[in-house]
Amino acid sequence: MSTPNDQFLADFAAMSRFGATPGGGVDRQAGTPADHATRQWFGEWLARHGFEETVDEAGNQFGTIELVPGAPYVLVGSHLDSQPLAGRYDGAYGVLAAAHACARVAQEARVAREARVARVAREARVAQEAGAKTTAPAYNLAVVNWFNEEGSRFAPSMMGSSVFTGKLPLAAALATTDSAGTSVAQALAAGHRTPDGTAPRLAGVAHYAEIHIEQGRNLEESGSQVGIVDRTWAASKYRVTVDGAQSHTGATRMEDRRDALYGAALVIAAARELAAEFEPGLLHTSVSELYVLPNSPVTIARQVLMNLDLRSPDEDVLNRAIELLGKWIADAGERSRTDIALETTHRWGLVAYQPGGVALGTASAEHLGFTHTDAMTVAGHDSTNLKDVVPTVMLFVPSVDGVSHNEAEYTRDDDALRGVELLTEVTRRLVRGELATD
Ligand SMILES: [Zn+2]
Repeated sequence: MSTPNDQFLADFAAMSRFGATPGGGVDRQAGTPADHATRQWFGEWLARHGFEETVDEAGNQFGTIELVPGAPYVLVGSHLDSQPLAGRYDGAYGVLAAAHACARVAQEARVAREARVARVAREARVAQEAGAKTTAPAYNLAVVNWFNEEGSRFAPSMMGSSVFTGKLPLAAALATTDSAGTSVAQALAAGHRTPDGTAPRLAGVAHYAEIHIEQGRNLEESGSQVGIVDRTWAASKYRVTVDGAQSHTGATRMEDRRDALYGAALVIAAARELAAEFEPGLLHTSVSELYVLPNSPVTIARQVLMNLDLRSPDEDVLNRAIELLGKWIADAGERSRTDIALETTHRWGLVAYQPGGVALGTASAEHLGFTHTDAMTVAGHDSTNLKDVVPTVMLFVPSVDGVSHNEAEYTRDDDALRGVELLTEVTRRLVRGELATD
């Protein structure tokens, strides 16, 4: 008979076949056929393991198990969507770990209840024992697969959890279109399930827990088996528009050119060089997703659209970087004779996770004998949204060489299994009501 660990690895292998790429990764952007196929497989998994599957209007997929009629939920999850040509672990590992953790805790609760009932039948007074009371669950269980965490097909990222937590209006999310003009509403309509109003709501959630691959190499370097996330890096993300003038690549005199691609190139170089203005590790900068118009041979670009993001573990550094970037971009515009505009698309500060949740995660790791460290998350996660509204526990497992958003993304089986065990212990404690909320 296979062990729970064998089952987890077999399920993970089965799930990784959806949208599988030749290089060993997956490609299942939000609302694509590959994402829907994964969601359907996951829905069937939930049904086979005693969960009731529901979806909400924003496409978030839930699996609930009732332990205490009418009680709020301990919600545990992550996301099944991926970046293009991405790894198997980012998000998907956390959803499957959550499902296994909840199934294990639900099974334990059922066994404990049967034992209590048997004891009551034998001797009514035994039921009064404090021990019997404290092991009883205080909350219900819900697994969640947040819709469109990646934001690669539909911006912004963390869309489903943003709607759930009231940070993004549902109508705005549903009206968002991809580059081909397909809306989120249209993409969701192709799914195997439609919302019927029974999915969990924020008001019914007591606590949230999530486990994710680290996507960096701090755990590996510190020799820690697990990370307990205590803060997010601050981030500022922008949509950059560089406007020039379309003209002939050969015939136009150099001094007459207003080349949007040249302006964009200067911005890209400025963003990269900005990081070198600060101590190593204090600023991460990137430019991504370029659209060059008309992107045609023998034609100088009239416009370039791109994303720029700045992240730092220090808000002062981030603010100084933003100021400096503004000057460098003005200079880039002058040199290239283009108009460069920045629009803020996403911004979050250096926000702490609740100390009670960090303490519960740490106590769980110690109880299991896992080496652990406090960790900051550089990447945004659905828990970045959830922690602002409910007490949250966020956990990391190591990523080999810190590789992520790449087909080579990898977490060793023993690390992945330790993470499931840790998330199970955290879920067990949350369901018992052990999280001190201060
Ligand atoms: Zn992720």
